[in-house]
Amino acid sequence: MESVIPIPATPAIPVYGSPAVFPVRRIYCVGRNYADHAREMGGDPNREPPFFFGKPHDAVVPGGGDVSYPPCTSNLHYEVELVVALARGGRDIPVAEAHGCIFGYAVGIDLTRRDLQAGSKEKGQPWDTAKGFDQSAPISPITPVSPEGHPASGAIWLSVNGVEKQRGDLSQMTWRVSEVIAHISRFVALAPGDLIFTGTPSGVGPIVPGDRVRCGIDGLGELEIVMV
Ligand code: MN
Repeated sequence: MESVIPIPATPAIPVYGSPAVFPVRRIYCVGRNYADHAREMGGDPNREPPFFFGKPHDAVVPGGGDVSYPPCTSNLHYEVELVVALARGGRDIPVAEAHGCIFGYAVGIDLTRRDLQAGSKEKGQPWDTAKGFDQSAPISPITPVSPEGHPASGAIWLSVNGVEKQRGDLSQMTWRVSEVIAHISRFVALAPGDLIFTGTPSGVGPIVPGDRVRCGIDGLGELEIVMV
């Protein structure tokens, strides 16, 4: 059928060791999933049910590279996160079956306009402009799930201009990946192509144009962006 406008492109992420790509359907993000980051944001680090927000799928910056400093903020923050890429979805996915939905894992940065987020929290308004802007989701190539299984531990780190700012371990996540998938699937039907950003450890902070941000997760490679 003919379209009245050009059909929007589907964003896609490279896959390590493959010429094929991973097309992106939706992006879900988990808030406060590491106790030390919950504390630094003034939250309660206890195991409250996880909460979620979204980013538009075309916010991805596949493989990193240059990222334009966004307008309407003077306090842009980095948040390094483990990203889960789904090969299968469904509703009410049991925790025990959640790993079976995963295609692979990547390193991502949940870029955040912290000043707008603080204003939204204060007024009880949504976070969309703070979290869901253009190029707000840089992401590394995806590493397919290996025969050794799913990463339950391993260093997650980020540096700005060579100075380390964040270092945590995947084992510190309050809600594990399987629990996050199960929980989201109670509210929406997950589907192939969905990405889930699973939260950041402590050490978040501002970046400015010219900054070079590098981050990585043990076994999943690295990601670098330059703010321009
Ligand atoms: Mn985040």
